[in-house]
Amino acid sequence: MQIDVADTDFRGFFTRRAVTFAFSDALRQLGGTVGDAGQVVRVTYGGAPCDCAGCGPYTVAVSSPVEYLVVFCPYVQQNYPVLTDAAMKHELVHTLTHRGDHLPCESGAVMSAELRCEVVVGQYIAADITYLCESGYVSGGVCAR
Ligand SMILES: [Zn+2]
Repeated sequence: MQIDVADTDFRGFFTRRAVTFAFSDALRQLGGTVGDAGQVVRVTYGGAPCDCAGCGPYTVAVSSPVEYLVVFCPYVQQNYPVLTDAAMKHELVHTLTHRGDHLPCESGAVMSAELRCEVVVGQYIAADITYLCESGYVSGGVCAR
């Protein structure tokens, strides 16, 4: 897979390096690799997507269920770079699965709706892998096992 981080002014709290590191670590956990081939995930900052119907002042990032697009929102500034890492991993799985739903908080999964629910922030657990693989859009990596 590939990542394309927009060259936007992130005012020093949101860097291409941090986003790319989170993406690489996510793929490592999911049995994938970052390379020059495969699906491109685009990452941008701010703008209209952050004013979505389900968005609020505490929205860290949003993703498009149809495009491979992740958009970070201003709240990410509140706890950078932890929120950058956690949100990238959460939104990446939304884009890979084309799913917008969440796992219950009790699951402790990255794919629960809130950061406070995660057993270990930024670490996928079995429930996340099931969420990913049952979508039917991912067949390699952890879903091939
Ligand atoms: Zn979500």
